[in-house]
This record gives sequence, structure tokens and C-alpha cells, in this order.
Amino acid sequence: LTDAKMKTFEELESAVRSYSRGWPTIFQKAKGYKMWDTDGIEYIDFFAGAGTLNYGHNDQTMQEKVIEYIRNDGIIHSLDMGTNPRKEFLERFKEVILTPRELDYKVMFPGPTGTNTVESALKIARKVTGRDSVISFTNAFHGMTIGSLSVTGNSFKRHGAGVPLHHSVSMPFDDYVEDQDTIAYLERFLEDSGSGVALPAAIILETVQGEGGINAARMEWLKKIETLCKRWDILLIIDDVQAGNGRTGTFFSFEPAGINPDIVCLSKSIGGFGLPMAITLIKPEYDKHWGPGEHNGTFRGNNLAFIAATEALSNWETDDFALAVQEKAAFLSKNVEMIIDKYPELKGTPRGRGLMQGIAIDVDGLADDICAEAFNRGLIVETSGPNDEVIKFLPPLIIDIEGLEKGLGILEDSIKHVLA
Ligand code: PMP
Repeated sequence: LTDAKMKTFEELESAVRSYSRGWPTIFQKAKGYKMWDTDGIEYIDFFAGAGTLNYGHNDQTMQEKVIEYIRNDGIIHSLDMGTNPRKEFLERFKEVILTPRELDYKVMFPGPTGTNTVESALKIARKVTGRDSVISFTNAFHGMTIGSLSVTGNSFKRHGAGVPLHHSVSMPFDDYVEDQDTIAYLERFLEDSGSGVALPAAIILETVQGEGGINAARMEWLKKIETLCKRWDILLIIDDVQAGNGRTGTFFSFEPAGINPDIVCLSKSIGGFGLPMAITLIKPEYDKHWGPGEHNGTFRGNNLAFIAATEALSNWETDDFALAVQEKAAFLSKNVEMIIDKYPELKGTPRGRGLMQGIAIDVDGLADDICAEAFNRGLIVETSGPNDEVIKFLPPLIIDIEGLEKGLGILEDSIKHVLA
């Protein structure tokens, strides 16, 4: 690092830092799956803005449409007012995403972030059922406000905020606790409700836990959760903020399980190329529980985000985009297996599905060291999991095989270096 750059970086660092990792450089430019810093050093991006950049950095068509709209003095921000970008997004979302999947939801704009959609989901679930509590899962991550935090099972992330708000409980996620049949455990818990613990309003889950360590639920487990929800009249909320928008190889992460959640939360890449946007999908009949003004917020009408979001949906007009993601995912998992076999010192386990994968490393601090070294060599990659023990691969979905190969090559060199 040049002295000048280090100084600027240190100045930046004097702002309160939130992410666990600091990347010691000043980034300047990005295109597709690549980023460059002010010294012109190139980085392969396996982080994708924490999942906001599924369609890559600076997609040309999105750029052109947004710029043209601004040049024509289009309305930038309109809260709940009608505008063409808002109308077009709603029409296209129905036409390209909901109708072909035979899904029937009303779209609600809860505010610009993932946390906002989760909050709205929790609120509507409580209103619809008249019950208070919510079941979430160990190592789940649902957001940073007190409500969404109270269903975030990850104790170290929650700890600054104190105790959960309402009587929500955290349950073991799928088979990540050895020898535990989580469905039987949940059934038992619900049967016992009334003897002290109230029946919950909802179960909220990520089909692949992103921040919690790329833990992928099995399809049959998801199906059983849906059955259990129906039996007990509990609403099923799928938080697809990170795993949705094609990340796992289908638009919604729950599609291969054949389930039909009551509420779905989407954010991150729904805004196309990094513009803040979120939507909450609710069963149409819940709409009557939701009076005007009951869940509002100023930044719910970002027309630039609607324009980019509508353009992003054109990727879903045919199956080609999804098939390409699935092919690249197969390539990635083959390489992940190969790395784990080749470096037994990592004590590695493969995690995830689609282009949301990871290597859990059972050696304290090693995942972090490898990611830090990877940055020095031109790869942006983050850790996740309660102890930052998982190297997490989240490249933009538009990455090609060459980009994946290059990134994985840097990762392997970093592993060799750190293990030497
Ligand atoms: N839900 C999930 C599954 C997430 O991964 C995140 C963000 N990492 C959130 C909710 C919160 O989103 P935001 O940071 O935009 O509030």
C-alpha cells in the first residue's frame, strides 16, 4: 500500500466500522465480477456486495436505463405515489416471476432494506394470527433492528442488543445438530405449547443460512416444516433476502422444495445493481389486515431501484439464466470438494448450494487468515458463521467459468501460503 492510500484507508477506518472484515484499500471502479482500486489493482469479487450484486457491477443496460430516466427529469423518489417505474416493476414481477411459478402473492414495499422486509413480515404474521411469538433457528440472521434481531438466532451478533423482544425462541436448524431430529423436537415443543409457551405466530427461516455459515436446509426438511406449519396453523416466512434472486439456482430458493410459503422476504439483489429496495410477498387474503399507514416509511418509492429491478427481471424470461447459474454452481462445488480433499489440514466441510457455497474450516482462525491472504492476492472473499469459520463464496451470478477458475486459483495459492 502506498503511504497516501494507507492514510486515506485509516481515515476511512476512523468511521465506525460495521463489517467484520476491513479491506485495506480504496476501491474505485467495478464491472461485472471485477473491482479495481485506486492503484489499478484488479480484484475478483466473490462477495458481491453481500449478495446485492447478483447481476454484477454496473450492468450496462441497467446503467443506461437509469441514466436516461434521470436525464429526462424522471421522478426519483415518490413514496407510495403511482409512477411508471413502480407500475412496470409490479407488472413484470407478476408476469415473469409469480405467474409462471403459479404463486399468488400481493407485493408490499416495506422500506429499502432486508431488515425492513423482515420487520414487515413479523408484524403482518402477528396481526393475521393474533399471536405474538415467532420461531427462528440457531445461527439464523434476519437483520439489525430490535424485532428482526430478536429472531436472529446467532447469539454473538445479537449480543449487543440484549434479550429478544417478545417470547420468540430459537430452534436447531435442520441436521446441523448431530443426532437431533429437529422436526420431532419442534412437534414436541408445539404439542407442549399451552403449558407455558404460547403457540407462535410464525416460523421464519432462510433455506440457506448466509451469515450463519452457509447452512443449507434439505428439501425434505423444508417440506416437513411446511406440513408442520399447516398442521398448527402457523405462518411460514421464508427470508429470501440473501438466498433469493437466483442465488441458489432458481429465482426463489425454496422452489426445489415445492413449498408455498405464506410470506416471502426479498431485498439485496431485487434492486438490480445495488440500489436499495425490498419487497414483502404476502398471501392476498392478508391484505385486509394491513390498513393504510400501518407499515410505512419514507424511502419506499425509489424509482431508480424500480427501473434497475425491472431490467433485472428480464433475466428470468427464459430458463437460460437459471440453467447457467446451476452449471456454474456445479463447477464451484466440484472445486470446493477438490480443495477439501487436497488440503486435509483445513479439516474442511463443503457447505451450501447454488452460487452460495462455502468451506467450513475446523481450525481456529484459519478461514480468516486465508481470506486476508486472498485479498492481498486479488480476491475479495468473506467469512461467515458464528466463529467466522466458513469461507463464503458469493460471486455475482453473471460470473463466467474463467472468473470462477481465477478466483479459486487465488484461493488455492492463499491456502498454500497460509498452510506453509
Ligand atoms: N435477512 C438475511 C437473510 C440477510 O442475509 C440480511 C443481510 N445480510 C438481512 C436479512 C438484513 O438485510 P439488510 O442488511 O439489508 O437490512
